[in-house]
Amino acid sequence: MKRSRKVKILATLGPASSSPEMIAKLHKAGADVFRINMSHADHGLMRTLVDRIRTVEKEAGRPIGILADLQGPKLRVGAFAEKQVALKVGQEFTFDDNPEPGNATRVHLPHPEILKSVEPGHRLLIDDGRLQLEALSSDGRAIRCKVVAGNKISDRKGVSLPDTDLPLGALTEKDRKDLDAVLATGVDWIGLSFIQRPQDLADVRKVARGRAALMAKIEKPQAVKRLPEILELSDALMVARGDLGVEMPLEAVPGIQKQIIRACRRAGKPVVVATQMLESMIAAPVPTRAEVSDVATAVFEGADAVMLSAESAAGDYPVEAVATMDSIAVQVERDPTYPGIIYAQRSDPQPTGADAISLASRQIAETLKLSAIITYTSSGTTGLRAARERPMVPIIALSPVVETARRLSLVWGTHCVVSPDASDLDDMVDRACRIAYEEQFVKAGDRVIITAGVPLRTPGATNMLRIAYIDSDGLGGL
Ligand code: PGA
Ligand code: MN
Repeated sequence: MKRSRKVKILATLGPASSSPEMIAKLHKAGADVFRINMSHADHGLMRTLVDRIRTVEKEAGRPIGILADLQGPKLRVGAFAEKQVALKVGQEFTFDDNPEPGNATRVHLPHPEILKSVEPGHRLLIDDGRLQLEALSSDGRAIRCKVVAGNKISDRKGVSLPDTDLPLGALTEKDRKDLDAVLATGVDWIGLSFIQRPQDLADVRKVARGRAALMAKIEKPQAVKRLPEILELSDALMVARGDLGVEMPLEAVPGIQKQIIRACRRAGKPVVVATQMLESMIAAPVPTRAEVSDVATAVFEGADAVMLSAESAAGDYPVEAVATMDSIAVQVERDPTYPGIIYAQRSDPQPTGADAISLASRQIAETLKLSAIITYTSSGTTGLRAARERPMVPIIALSPVVETARRLSLVWGTHCVVSPDASDLDDMVDRACRIAYEEQFVKAGDRVIITAGVPLRTPGATNMLRIAYIDSDGLGGL
């Protein structure tokens, strides 16, 4: 199965899309990577979903990436005696360490470290910002606030603290257990929610020990501020616009989205644009004009992947949502303005063999009108550097390591195929040509570029570039 677009589609699984049939349909409609949200899935369900995805992968014969998204330190208020209370702008309301049910003047905030960190003037945003309060005073056990906007609060609503540096690491106790479980099950990407500091990534990396790649979700102002350092320690970033739009002014989000995408493209690390991309398709079979435009913007910017959340997890039209994203992407990438917009943000190669060869392959492919760039990549690095060039011809990444192929399924323009290492140079050329032919990227008479690090499996040693003809039986010739 071959996609007719460069950008990848990441679909979140949930109640609307957990059956084996539905997962297969979503994959067929265009989902390249599936997200399992550990805020909603217990370990049993997570393992079942991974199993089902792997079955679909086997039947489709295409590597599929799995992103396990950890909940992270999401803060919530306690419960109320009457479930919900009405509030008035201007009134006082207190968050404290008393576990008794809340009322119209107070509620439990079951995070003692937060009670100590909030300072007068800091904002408290409840329920995605629907209720806003400002701290008046805090004695370490209770925060006295004034209601600034909104009129109600209810059981276990989320709390965002955009002004407060939280003394929390990236992993809660629940996250630790979830991380062990998803690593043991074998997922490809770990999503890290609400990270604030580069150290958060370093801590998780020590646990993951290379068993999965790390995707930092940028959803707090603290993370935006330290973006370069966080990017340095991540394998990919997600523009997590849901929580980002709560913690920062909404009008700041589009600019931040562009900055994050550009930083990732410069670094050659995948970037995902997430949340509310086709929100109205939760309840309708067609999107709004604005949503189509939003998906198009991410595609024009050269993001590696666009993501569906509730649209595919809990909506009435999961398959239509994936199919809609697919057709928007295909159409945008055919637009005559697309190559120019993508090229405008291309950055210079770094002084390495992989980058020099990636740049040269793209230029040769364009000059000679070649049909594909085929790259042998065991760790995935050469594949990532090839994608960083954003060539308009397809990149076929051949890896003997199935985990590499699965991780790369998130990456822009990259068609991954699991294939054993070649035995010698002739075998390398023949194999590359045959796979490109079988996967229907080339026909007899076409020419391709093959890149590799020889000897194979030497990480960081990309040193070979070869032009080959596809002869009449799909094998390589000179
Ligand atoms: P979430 O992350 O869906 O796990 O909250 C994405 C976002 O906040 O945009
Ligand atoms: Mn979030």
